[in-house]
Amino acid sequence: MKIICIGRNYIDHAKELKNPVPKKPLVFMKPPSALLINNKPLYYPEFTKDLHYELEVVLKIAKNGRHVQDEFASDYYDQVALGIDFTARDVQAKCKEKGHPWEIAKGFDNSAALSNFVNLSKLPDPKAIKFQMKRNGKLVQNGNTKDLIFSFDYIISYVSQYFKLQQGDIIYTGTPAGVGPVQIGDVLEGFLEGDKLLETSIK
Ligand code: MG
Repeated sequence: MKIICIGRNYIDHAKELKNPVPKKPLVFMKPPSALLINNKPLYYPEFTKDLHYELEVVLKIAKNGRHVQDEFASDYYDQVALGIDFTARDVQAKCKEKGHPWEIAKGFDNSAALSNFVNLSKLPDPKAIKFQMKRNGKLVQNGNTKDLIFSFDYIISYVSQYFKLQQGDIIYTGTPAGVGPVQIGDVLEGFLEGDKLLETSIK
């Protein structure tokens, strides 16, 4: 399976990191070994001093497809989860400065926390999914997928021009504003439509 990620997909987040708002989706991947499931803890990696959380809505690909047209894209996903795109921000900054790929900052072991999936049909509005992150009980991110720059359907059609989508692949769709550093001992909780789906502690 592939873990596809979209960067800078909320205007307020692009601005907080002083990045330009992209005209096309910014796509990168994490290896399957990055997955962190069952609310397991993340051990703070020794190669960074600035580990950040990014809470994101994650799509699960329901069937294989390539060159998917926009109008058929919604047939390719029917479940969503919450995920944390853990990022070594200091390592990423160095990669960006040199124009290097940023996998070592984004795709390291356990950098892709993932909750259980829920059916989109169970949500009040699949085009306006509310999701929140609390760090040590304090609200730090408050997102709504209606604010996405590139919609789920557009992401599916865009990504499938380059990569064959395969059943079971997952797509991290980007983080809203409010990203920030974590410390050892922190507890991160992710909420989807008010239900806690994800909890990860930093050790
Ligand atoms: Mg991200």
